[in-house]
Amino acid sequence: MPLPQQVLKTREVRLIRWMVWLGLAACGGLSQAGGEFKSTRSDAVVKTDAEWKKLLSAEQYRILRDKGTERAFTGKYWNNKKKGVYTCGGCGLKLFSSADKFVSGTGWPSFTRSLPGDTVGRAQDGTLGMSRTEIVCARCGGHLGHVFPDGPPPTGERYCVNGNALGFVVETL
Ligand SMILES: [Zn+2]
Repeated sequence: MPLPQQVLKTREVRLIRWMVWLGLAACGGLSQAGGEFKSTRSDAVVKTDAEWKKLLSAEQYRILRDKGTERAFTGKYWNNKKKGVYTCGGCGLKLFSSADKFVSGTGWPSFTRSLPGDTVGRAQDGTLGMSRTEIVCARCGGHLGHVFPDGPPPTGERYCVNGNALGFVVETL
C-alpha cells in the first residue's frame, strides 16, 4: 500500500503530464487552424515565392505574400470614389464592387461585402495577440486584410483591405 503522500504525488505527476499534453495539443490545434489558406477553386493560382517576387512590386509582395499592412491613408483607393471593380493585385480576380464600398474613416478601402461567389476566403489570424479574421483572395491566397463585425448594412461586416494589394477597373455598373 502506498502512503497517502505518495498517492498524492503520483496524482500530481499525472495531472502535470496531462496538462502538458493538453497544452501541446491545443497549440498544435491552433497552428493548424491558423495555417495557410488553400484555394479550392478549379482555377487556383499557385506560385513559388520566387515567382511571386518577379511578378509583384516589393510593396505588393510585402502585403499579398508576407501578410504586411500599409499605413493608413497612404495606400491606393482608400479615397477612390469611382465606379468600378476592385481586383486582386496578385492574380487579377474580381473581388469587390465600388457599390459595396463605404467611408469607414480608417484610411483603408472598406467594403461591406465581397463580390458573389468564391472570391474572398477567410482564415483565423492569432498574430499580434489578437483574434482576427484574415481575408485572402480565394484564387491565389494573397493576403488582403481583415474582416470585422462592425460594418454597415446589409451584412454588418467591414472588409478592411490594403489598397496596395488591389487593382481597380473602371466599369459602368
Ligand atoms: Zn488573387
